[in-house]
Amino acid sequence: MIRREVDDDHICTLTFDRPESGANIFDAATLDELNERLDFVESDASLRGLIIASAKKSIFIAGADLKTLLQQSQSGEMRAFIAKGQRIFSRLADLKIPSVAAIHGASAGGGYEVALACDYRVATDDPATRIGLPETTLGLIPAWGGCTRLPRVIGAEKAAEVILKGKLYSAQEALKIGLVDEVVPRDQLINRAREKLRAGKRKPSAAPKLDQEIPAPRDRNPAPAAALEVIKKSLSTSAEQSLAFELDTIVDLGKTESTQNLIRNFFLAEKYKKGSSRMPAERVVHAAVIGAGVMGSGIAQWLSSRGVTVILRDIAREQIDHGLANVEKIYADAVKRGLITEEKAKEGRARICGSTAPMELRDVRFVIEAASEKLSVKKEVFRELAMEAGPKTIVATNTSALPVSALADVTVSPEHVIGLHFFNPVSRMKLVEVVIAKETSEETRERSLAFVRQIGKLPVIVRDSPGFLVNRVLFPYLLDAAELFEAGLEADKIDTALVQWGMPMGPLRLIDEIGVDIAVDIGNTLEKAYGRRDHVSAVLLWLRDGQMLGRKTGAGFYKYEGKQQSPNEGIQTWRSPVVAGGVDPGSIEGGATRQPASPRLVGATADDIAHRLVFLMVNEAARCVEEKVVDLPEDADYGMILGTGFAPFRGGPLRFAEHFGLKKVVAELERLAQTEEKFLPCEILKKRARDETRFYEQ
Ligand code: NAD
Repeated sequence: MIRREVDDDHICTLTFDRPESGANIFDAATLDELNERLDFVESDASLRGLIIASAKKSIFIAGADLKTLLQQSQSGEMRAFIAKGQRIFSRLADLKIPSVAAIHGASAGGGYEVALACDYRVATDDPATRIGLPETTLGLIPAWGGCTRLPRVIGAEKAAEVILKGKLYSAQEALKIGLVDEVVPRDQLINRAREKLRAGKRKPSAAPKLDQEIPAPRDRNPAPAAALEVIKKSLSTSAEQSLAFELDTIVDLGKTESTQNLIRNFFLAEKYKKGSSRMPAERVVHAAVIGAGVMGSGIAQWLSSRGVTVILRDIAREQIDHGLANVEKIYADAVKRGLITEEKAKEGRARICGSTAPMELRDVRFVIEAASEKLSVKKEVFRELAMEAGPKTIVATNTSALPVSALADVTVSPEHVIGLHFFNPVSRMKLVEVVIAKETSEETRERSLAFVRQIGKLPVIVRDSPGFLVNRVLFPYLLDAAELFEAGLEADKIDTALVQWGMPMGPLRLIDEIGVDIAVDIGNTLEKAYGRRDHVSAVLLWLRDGQMLGRKTGAGFYKYEGKQQSPNEGIQTWRSPVVAGGVDPGSIEGGATRQPASPRLVGATADDIAHRLVFLMVNEAARCVEEKVVDLPEDADYGMILGTGFAPFRGGPLRFAEHFGLKKVVAELERLAQTEEKFLPCEILKKRARDETRFYEQ
């Protein structure tokens, strides 16, 4: 796994090259091999320097073997493996000769900690080079010296930021922060690394002082806070002692439900990425996108960045120009963030061709319709597409809530119609719901799954039914939050409760992000299908009619100025129409009369609020399993994590419910249902609770 070469200058290069794999990782065997290589390095007195490199195309070292870590966390045997890594990396750090990591490709977690144990770090400017310590996002901490050495290299504040955020940085960003000493073109990497060694061994830096107090992270995943503790403690102690803190902390974290959930999520991502199709994958090179709005332009940009040429169609030049400007903006942002080179961005943009006229689509393998969310508009588009499409063209709709089947019905080959539901913003959201209508053929389904994977998104298969999976499970939660607001709870109180519980943002903030108008439309569609639990409350109609549509208009449940968010006083006119002279919501079509603050809610704690809302999602996710909207509980859980940011460390609504206790969840739903029928637990939840059977094996 590690090749050793010594050149005429007595420089030893250790090249990581795991056989039959695109990636290098640290499992126990690789650690042992590194240890043996270090035996050699220590024993050969003629050596003058050591280079650590990788032979892989896009990976330096991806990190510790997570399979090992997950198994060990479950069986409580993580300590030996972590301690071994620590010992070997310390040995590397303590070599008498200077060492340098020559980083090309992903250098993450343990794959960066090995570089931290070297004296120098040189990285290539290639976009494949991504550097960082993502352990906290997996519920772990960097425990192979990361929490100890990084503060000593870049200072405590910056180290805390890198470790607590857990993000991967481009080479340029890494250079700015100090994660690497130098960035060079790929063909100069080894030479530059060699030159670095001439400067000799670096003096170990003393522990830095903390200049300002770092606020404890509010994350409910316990890992960031634990990492911060270790970093702080490490400042006033020796490196050895600090490593001992790292070890104890990671072992404790490994035993927790949240860490095990976060590592499981990682494997779920792998599973959805790979799939299990046995059909030979065709490479899609041409596609068309109909509608150049927010979603259409986002999808076109994404496809073009993945090498697919795209015809982007809309009804008028103005819309096309608007769409292309959006494409431009997404590319510019990606270049600025170092995710893509200017050259690649240019190539990508050139792959999109805007058009207002119908076009020959015979050679186009995928058409994605992202026109306005109106059945009549979409039917018209599908009728026309059916004429233009070739015999192998798959026509997909990006509809959020309309029945895919209704669109398939208007075409001549309904077996080629499918839903590909992307999420907004397309460039950030990995999930695509692949919606199977009753007419959709097996072949269309398989080709669509392969296509979604080809473009680097994660497909979850869902049955064609109102709201599919994600919106169906999310909306009872969002709409109930609006009802709680209506019943007298402050927006901030509701949102804070859910953020504390672990959501990335509260439900009312999320409605503002989605857009109140869109939320009302989706809610109305779902209410028709599922009744009271998707009831659109009057306050939402009032906001919509007053053009307070959320972030896009600068106000909704909150007011937005730039990045600032503050309470929207305007909404107080809703609460006290007489005083402020606002519209009486009772007069709004479909609006209920305003209710006084419900006495039941006056003393509601943050937990009461969070549970009530989350249990609605649990109930709906269980229904999706019961009604076979998804095949497996993990499809529902993972779909919600990816599609809505559902607290990843909770493992998704069903995994959470199981850990919390299905009996307790059902009892609470039944209690709430005494006053509000919409809480009635579904059959499968009741049955599982009664029989003590589980959604998951473990
Ligand atoms: P949008 O209003 O921003 O864009 C729709 C575009 O379609 C407009 O530019 C419009 O001119 C164009 N259009 C209308 N009729 C057309 C026709 N006959 N031919 C070609 N173009 C036509 O809407 P959006 O937010 O981009 O949503 C598009 C679709 O994606 C909808 O079905 C929506 O439900 C779905 N969706 C939206 C989101 C979201 O968050 N916005 C998320 C997922 C899915």
